[in-house]
Amino acid sequence: MSELSKIEDGQVVSMDYTLQVDGEVVDSSEGREPLEFLQGAGNIIPGLEQELYGMAVGESKKVVIQPDEGYGIIDPDAFVEVPRDQFPTNIPMEVGTEITVTDQDNNPMNARIDSLDDDNVILDFNHPLAGKELHFDVKIVGLRDATDEENEHGHSHDGGHTH
Ligand code: ZN
Repeated sequence: MSELSKIEDGQVVSMDYTLQVDGEVVDSSEGREPLEFLQGAGNIIPGLEQELYGMAVGESKKVVIQPDEGYGIIDPDAFVEVPRDQFPTNIPMEVGTEITVTDQDNNPMNARIDSLDDDNVILDFNHPLAGKELHFDVKIVGLRDATDEENEHGHSHDGGHTH
């Protein structure tokens, strides 16, 4: 494909990025391989995917994304009170401690301790970036047509991913 191609659905995009929240870098591809994903397949957050259409290799952009197009707004129902004695004793009982619990179907779910008293712990199951405005700096470093198999699977097969 020509170097003048622009990002559209069905293309595998390689992208360097830095994500800042509240003025601090919380994620970046710096020092790593670029992020690779299939455009139009919902591999990345919707607000960012939307802003990438029409970009070409070598182009950079700053994108500000509101919570509802990013990691969602904070869900008050995602705070759950759990009796303190249900936690293993090796877990630090402090605000901010990250823990993984399993739901009824044995799926792992990440939570953080939001608050606690002598008897109970409030766990916050919201995504850590829920409710946050996301500030991305992105640079497109590669672009190619997806293979039929990638389109069928809905993801890129670069980076050793083969299923
Ligand atoms: Zn696959």
